[in-house]
Amino acid sequence: MDMHKEAEANDKFIVKYRQQYYDLSKFLHKHPGGLNTLKGLKSGDMTSRFLKAPPHSDAAMYLMKEYKIEPEDSQKIKSSHKEAELQEGNGAIRQRPRETEDKNNNQVDESMEHLVDWSKAMLPQIANITDCYDEWVHKPVDRPLRLFGPWYLEMCTKTPWWLVPTFWIPVIIRCAWEDLASSWQDRSQLAVFAAYFLFGVLLWSFLEYTLHRWVFHVKLSSNSGSWLCTFHFMIHGLHHKVPYDPKRLVFPPLPGALLATIIYTPLSLVLWHPRVVLSGALAGYLCYDMIHYYLHYGNPSTRAFVHMKRYHFHHHFSHQTLGYGISSPLWDVVFKTRIHLRKLRYQLRWS
Ligand SMILES: [Zn+2]
Ligand SMILES: [Zn+2]
Ligand SMILES: [Zn+2]
Repeated sequence: MDMHKEAEANDKFIVKYRQQYYDLSKFLHKHPGGLNTLKGLKSGDMTSRFLKAPPHSDAAMYLMKEYKIEPEDSQKIKSSHKEAELQEGNGAIRQRPRETEDKNNNQVDESMEHLVDWSKAMLPQIANITDCYDEWVHKPVDRPLRLFGPWYLEMCTKTPWWLVPTFWIPVIIRCAWEDLASSWQDRSQLAVFAAYFLFGVLLWSFLEYTLHRWVFHVKLSSNSGSWLCTFHFMIHGLHHKVPYDPKRLVFPPLPGALLATIIYTPLSLVLWHPRVVLSGALAGYLCYDMIHYYLHYGNPSTRAFVHMKRYHFHHHFSHQTLGYGISSPLWDVVFKTRIHLRKLRYQLRWS
């Protein structure tokens, strides 16, 4: 059974939608609307089911183009070693494209990706597309992104998720250690410690909202300068452009430390127990970044996390000006930017 499943997973997952063919094998686990909802679509025409499903946003339709296969590709697939298997499977005949049909019914391809060269470093190219940058950056794609030309710069732009806890957990412990050790014996002092730590966590959640809303999603217009667009792409735009790049998801520790220092230095002059507050805020940040990664790549099964995952993907794909809270919707409620998700009659699963 398992071997059968594995073989199935390695296979191409080709579907037909409105006279076009798509290979969804790379996308199945990434589908924000669940993996289980795609069951039974393999090698078939998904048009009618797609139209009955909850509506897909323009961004989702744009992303779908990434998986389109050209008639020649499907021809190749047909003649490959998988031929026998495909033809045995149900609906195998339907997945063979008829070229005349494709020519007559091709939808207008409004792709904006011809504006940039994906095989070259992207960051220097942002300056050339400032007049339509805001529109372009909110149209997601699923392809490798190179930010810089030189490899040593490019290397610095990639952060594996585990680097974040490895770097920050010792810092968090170091910041809290002295105060924790001195208040360990005394219950009331321990309560004070806990209160300041929790204040730090709350401070983070406010910062998470404000940074995401007013810095990461800084208002851009067609005459925003090239430096502003480039800055935006670096800090958050790229995450919206390539939401499935696992190494461009968490915040790299060194710029993170710099940002933390900039925010902490003035606050430390006015706060009581600033180090404890800092450790709470950093703990809040760490949870946020790990949750964010999990929402993109995890297979949540609990109600709360399924809801959070759907909520965050609505921010990505349909309501980029709403749903800024990632680890909690608290400040979305306070600032009235909450996304109200439709109730589903079925459970979404990603595994
Ligand atoms: Zn979908
Ligand atoms: Zn965002
Ligand atoms: Zn995200």
